[in-house]
Amino acid sequence: MHHPGNVFVVSAPSGAGKSTLVRRLVSTVPNLIFSISFTTRKPRPGEVDGLDYFYIDDASFEAMVREGGFVEWVEVYGYRYGTGRDWLNGVLASGQDVLLDIETTGALNLRRAIPDACMIFILPPSVAALEERLRSRGKDSDEQIRIRLEYALHEMEQYPAYDYLVLNDDLELAYRRFESIILATRASRERMAPAAQRILEGF
Ligand code: ADP
Ligand code: 5GP
Repeated sequence: MHHPGNVFVVSAPSGAGKSTLVRRLVSTVPNLIFSISFTTRKPRPGEVDGLDYFYIDDASFEAMVREGGFVEWVEVYGYRYGTGRDWLNGVLASGQDVLLDIETTGALNLRRAIPDACMIFILPPSVAALEERLRSRGKDSDEQIRIRLEYALHEMEQYPAYDYLVLNDDLELAYRRFESIILATRASRERMAPAAQRILEGF
């Protein structure tokens, strides 16, 4: 998949604070588009169709799978989630940077399709903090929290596949770490070489 923009993939065990950090990042950093996934999960209170996710039913999801409509998709926590191929290609073709908030299995599949994707993992300070955050969010049932904690171990084990690990202890510090990674990646020599060449040619 050829693309002029940067692709950022962010994963974390559920409850680590990924959505909190990602929401702030995409509303603060210009030219960074949040990848809106498709899901069969129902919207949580406050979530908006077409903003947080595209909420679709099982049959529609199944049809998209059959038609090859997903770059990657998974089933976790009893629901299915996928990155729409047309949607992602459209954003990438526009040259803007895109940030995908996806779990680890999908992230590893995506990296196969886009090898230069920058992979970022959000770490909770501890297992106890993770559980406390899931409970304090107050948006999942006890059963959902139990399933998410079980999967958290699997998610944590995947951290070696990521390029950056952001510890989310203090939220402000964590945000600064996170934003710095985006800005530093954009400033890499590889990414900035065409701009440097244009300046050189002006001499
Ligand atoms: P995720 O998207 O990773 O599942 P959320 O962003 O929904 O997690 O965060 C889970 C809960 O933890 C939310 O209630 C959020 O306000 C809280 N939270 C996030 N970051 C911190 C932090 N650094 N310190 C304390 N609470 C946090
Ligand atoms: P939630 O139900 O909390 O919104 O999301 C559950 C998990 O699914 C999160 O870890 C989130 O990152 C992940 N997720 C959301 N969309 C996608 C997607 O399109 N693909 C994959 N692989 N995971 C996704």
